[in-house]
Amino acid sequence: MSSSWLAQRTQQFDSSGIRKVFDLAAKMPDPINLSIGQPDFPVPGAIKAAAIEAIRQDKNGYSVTQGVPELLDALQSRVDAEHGHQDRRVLVTSGTSGALMLAMMALVDPGDEVICFDPYFVMYPALVSMVGGKCVLIDTYPDFQIDVDQVAAAITPRTKMILLNSPANPTGRVATKEEVRTLATLAAEHNIALLSDEIYREFCYDTPLMSPTAWNDQTIVVDGFSKSYGVTGWRLGWIHGPSVVIDKLSMLQQYTFVCAPHPLQWAGLEAIRTDISAQVADYRGRRDLIVSGLKKAGYEVAPTSGAFYVFPKVPAGFDNATQFVARAIENQLLIIPGNIFSSRDTHFRISYAASVETLQRGLHVLKQLRDAV
Ligand code: PMP
Repeated sequence: MSSSWLAQRTQQFDSSGIRKVFDLAAKMPDPINLSIGQPDFPVPGAIKAAAIEAIRQDKNGYSVTQGVPELLDALQSRVDAEHGHQDRRVLVTSGTSGALMLAMMALVDPGDEVICFDPYFVMYPALVSMVGGKCVLIDTYPDFQIDVDQVAAAITPRTKMILLNSPANPTGRVATKEEVRTLATLAAEHNIALLSDEIYREFCYDTPLMSPTAWNDQTIVVDGFSKSYGVTGWRLGWIHGPSVVIDKLSMLQQYTFVCAPHPLQWAGLEAIRTDISAQVADYRGRRDLIVSGLKKAGYEVAPTSGAFYVFPKVPAGFDNATQFVARAIENQLLIIPGNIFSSRDTHFRISYAASVETLQRGLHVLKQLRDAV
């Protein structure tokens, strides 16, 4: 029986709940799709042209593992200018996901503990368990603030890493300067690796991004092109951190991903020169629209000032988010239940990376669902 070939580690995974909603969407004639975590704006023309040109110029073979020198140098200059750390090196990766995978492989031994904030990005617990680690969840409900005392209390001799994601998926919350400063200092004091997932760094609407690198020069940062430039299918990201770590990641990349997609790295070089402030301003407007619409319809929603998500509470009258989302889907509205991102099933994720018309249709259904109970 071929099922007996499957390794133990495969037993812990079910298909991602987000994928299940994607598959459902494909079968529906005209869904109101607020489930997708990717920008809806078209990729800027110059970036597309750079990708096409690189393919035409036969830049289709492997690149060096670290990334094409032109892109690597441009990213390194940006990182040096922003952080000014003596020992901070960049590696170009196959998406932010590729960077996260390499970091887990390089840093987490079986039995090591990784502190994550609940709600979390779906991939974190899966990646931790793939390398045999244990995810230790810190509850951040109801306002999704980081309580550093709670983090300190969760630290054990096996704690290897703290995973921070700000702006956050699925809550859209941007951590405050005080939260980030105290967390960064705590990690440094305990000599714990701090991994900061800054993939949504361009999407901060009310306050600037606070990176823990300002207080902890050993912070490892993952970042990527997917969200900022609408190129989720290109699988292009980067990671930066202390050179001993980045050198090992580079070596692991040789034996896994080999290199990030070569022609698209040239397009990445064009992308980092592209101004996306108009798109960000547009998303700020949609954030305002969805938050005020939800509040008007009677939903409880914590402040959200980044990424393109809101994570409202399921209204009274429903058993849990899974039941609420099933009702929404019956009404053509695709949203994601909270238990995909959390040990709780009390909230649901809306992605407002959708047209204003789609957002208004979605709000209409949400209002009807609320009024029906
Ligand atoms: N981190 C977070 C918080 C994300 O939301 C995502 C994508 N949904 C990723 C990482 C992975 O992004 P990429 O497409 O660069 O692999």
